[in-house]
Amino acid sequence: MKAKRLKTLRILAGVRQSWRCHYCWFPMWEGDLNPFIARYGISKREAMRFQCTAEHVRARCDGGEDSAANIVAACRACNGLRHRRKKPLSADDHAVHVGKRLAEGRWLPAHLRAVFAKERRC
Ligand SMILES: [Zn+2]
Repeated sequence: MKAKRLKTLRILAGVRQSWRCHYCWFPMWEGDLNPFIARYGISKREAMRFQCTAEHVRARCDGGEDSAANIVAACRACNGLRHRRKKPLSADDHAVHVGKRLAEGRWLPAHLRAVFAKERRC
């Protein structure tokens, strides 16, 4: 029941964000990854990092709720990186971190940056 609700919140957040990651603003896929692979001509393994996930702005372990106000859509890579740390950054600090890495060209391999370069609007 709870998982279904989280899925709904994830999809709502994805639609709200035009299926762009909250942190890196790269496009994401939801449900079936094959159209995404076909559209960008990337491998399944590469596409996995762009899977849409529900990201709790305030982490669950800090009392963050499964609510529309607390859920944004983030790609698997950004979400995973935030929570891989021993002490995860706040969502705002993580956004700054991802932004820095993007600016330094250290977020995506060059060939993937090229694939998405024409689509990125920021
Ligand atoms: Zn991302």
